[in-house]
Amino acid sequence: MKMLPLMANTREFGAVIIGHNKTARRKLQALLRADTLVAVASEQTFCDSLQTLIDDNKISVVSVDDALNNQVRFPLVILAEGGADWQREQAIRMKAQGRLVNVADHPEMSNVSLPYLIDRHPVVIAVGSTGEAPVLARIMRSKLEALIPASFGRLSLLVSSWNEKVRAVFPVSKIRERFWSQQLQGAVGELMMSGREKQAHSQLETNLQAAEVDQLQGEVYLVGAGPGDPELLTLRAVRLIQQADVVLYDRLVAPEIVDLCRSDAERIYVGKARADHAVPQGEINQLLVDLAQEGKRVLRLKGGDPFIFGRGGEEIDKLSQHKVPFQVVPGITAAAGCAAYAGIPLTHRDYAQSVRFVTGHLKDGTTNLPWSELASSAQTVVFYMGLVGLPEITRQLIAHGRAEDTPMALIQQGTTRNQRNIIATLGTMVEHIADKKVEPPTLIIVGEVVSLHAQLNWFDPEQAGGSSGFWARRNDNS
Ligand code: SAH
Repeated sequence: MKMLPLMANTREFGAVIIGHNKTARRKLQALLRADTLVAVASEQTFCDSLQTLIDDNKISVVSVDDALNNQVRFPLVILAEGGADWQREQAIRMKAQGRLVNVADHPEMSNVSLPYLIDRHPVVIAVGSTGEAPVLARIMRSKLEALIPASFGRLSLLVSSWNEKVRAVFPVSKIRERFWSQQLQGAVGELMMSGREKQAHSQLETNLQAAEVDQLQGEVYLVGAGPGDPELLTLRAVRLIQQADVVLYDRLVAPEIVDLCRSDAERIYVGKARADHAVPQGEINQLLVDLAQEGKRVLRLKGGDPFIFGRGGEEIDKLSQHKVPFQVVPGITAAAGCAAYAGIPLTHRDYAQSVRFVTGHLKDGTTNLPWSELASSAQTVVFYMGLVGLPEITRQLIAHGRAEDTPMALIQQGTTRNQRNIIATLGTMVEHIADKKVEPPTLIIVGEVVSLHAQLNWFDPEQAGGSSGFWARRNDNS
């Protein structure tokens, strides 16, 4: 380590920025966020954004001469302009005066640098690179940004308002820390971060009154895992996945996503294959209730979006009957994921003014779908669970008037390394796939928009780093 990160209280600290180019403005923002007393100096006229800050008295203006020489008023100097020779000369001189000097883009001339910040007030993370690998620092910052929820800082409000009372109940600091850690990483913290502050406070009060850390109220997270590629998870999904004590997952959840769970989390496979319900739906619903009532944070992971052909509604209905707290995290549904990764816009001004998501799982033959509506033109129709019913689907659409040459796509294992786009028409698809081995799950898209695939296809599964495709785990023909 070549540099020591320090946290400076810059409210009592004068900083001056010489120059007002883009770098200067970026550094200025960081200094202002920490309430630093900032002055700017430049030989040229200030740009509008800076002038506004000056007019609003957020920053003051001094001469370049003053900035360079007033070491008492400006212990911290940022040189953002001037040629390298001039900057080197000034930096040497000012460092000799004992000042902190940062020369933009010249770490070798500087004795301080301004790190990237991940601001979760009152906690701040600084990521610096000693100037040698700023790109790595930037990458690390975005990884951390994604990992630590923006609402993390809100937890401090909870701590500050309850600290005294918690201290009274748990005078021994080790036990108090354990209590806090359970609260902040558990249901209470989750309530707080998702904006349900009132409930968080009352839950904390209950837990504290019980003074029994092991009997905390559980919660269920109904989370959409997206169509396959783990990178399509939402930030909230990742956070809840990493927090859960137990996870119940489906066949359609990629193993890479299940792997994101804590290593000590219990994993329960409740996968559903067509005609092979590993665990019947009623039992899943009950299991969720039972586990939450044991005080666990239960993650219910579902492929795609939990509310689109996901029976998510039935599961939370049961939870609400039993007054088990829950939250729902949307996921990218297969239609959106497959269409995007196949270069097929589901709507398009010239081809389709609406899109329908339809189940292709045809109960008792065919009569339960409004075929004539589905056959009308200028719309895209997406069939989930449609592979088995494919011959019937194409036959009915044609019989109800959709043109035989309407383009049609069958997308296998969309967004994974096994994605395959099979393009044909309503009239030819059945024959076209007769000699092909198609692996489930598959999604069917019918409509003129499919013709855009030829031009807009961008995704190369062979190069994809995400999911390896996950349906080898179980075979069915949905
Ligand atoms: N809740 C899920 C859908 C569950 S129904 C969602 O929102 O996506 C299961 C059907 O979804 C499958 O039969 C298949 O038609 C479709 N499906 C899910 N993931 C898919 C994928 N990666 N590629 C193609 N189809 C997929």
